[in-house]
Amino acid sequence: MSKSKPFPAIHGGCFCASTRYRLETAPLFCYACHCQDCNKHTGSVFACFTTIETEFITSIGKAPPKITTLVRPNGTTRHLATCGTCSTRLWASGDRSTVIADINTGTLDLPELMEPDLHEYIESKISWVLLPEGTKTCKGPFDYRDWWPKNSLRRLDAAIQRAQERKKLQAKVAQAESLEVEEEKEADKTPTAQTPDEKDDVAEDDEEFERRYLETEKALQERLEQLSLRLEVHEKAQEDDLRPVVVQAAKEPAQEPASKAPTADPKQVPAATVPES
Ligand SMILES: [Zn+2]
Ligand SMILES: [Zn+2]
Repeated sequence: MSKSKPFPAIHGGCFCASTRYRLETAPLFCYACHCQDCNKHTGSVFACFTTIETEFITSIGKAPPKITTLVRPNGTTRHLATCGTCSTRLWASGDRSTVIADINTGTLDLPELMEPDLHEYIESKISWVLLPEGTKTCKGPFDYRDWWPKNSLRRLDAAIQRAQERKKLQAKVAQAESLEVEEEKEADKTPTAQTPDEKDDVAEDDEEFERRYLETEKALQERLEQLSLRLEVHEKAQEDDLRPVVVQAAKEPAQEPASKAPTADPKQVPAATVPES
């Protein structure tokens, strides 16, 4: 079997060139939208998007994109990536899931490569926008499960799973750290409680100070060792129990900490179908 060729680097960026990005893999899907919302927020007569896993967009410019997070009344989150200098809208995530982002195709250096696989909201297409014969269209929003290639659906599942694994790991690290803080509090209390107030007016001599310093350092060292042990156990447990996570996928329309990138298009698939992560 011949090895498949590596995906060529595809670059894009904003108008002023201070924010640049690179796609690390081929897109999942390309589509155009003729809804009025897209017309408004792109300032054009229809919008074109290139969908890809958010984690596969790498910022390579002088400035990272500015990420604006919006929490909708239904609790879902949307992240919009723009250039902090010229305000070009680069991509958005969270309309279907925060694990995928809709790049504004026009910001790619070679948008030519990303011809839409489908035009949605065809009923509101501006009449003088003429589409080539044979163009695939649909009324209203498209359902990604009907239109995405099988391989893209598999990639989406994998991306969701990776996001859930990251989330679990973050939670475990946070838990281990908070345990550590608790222990520190306890450790702080103990010596204080045992130190008689009367001692205050007696200046500690150097020897005594040195002894306490060493004790404190030893205790700190021990706690650090305990923490790394605990982290190891957590990481192991995490490796062991990740698989069943998929089951939760359907009931997790929650949001992601506003860390990563974004999608462009207020629409369709109910947020619950593809979990945020
Ligand atoms: Zn810019
Ligand atoms: Zn639209």
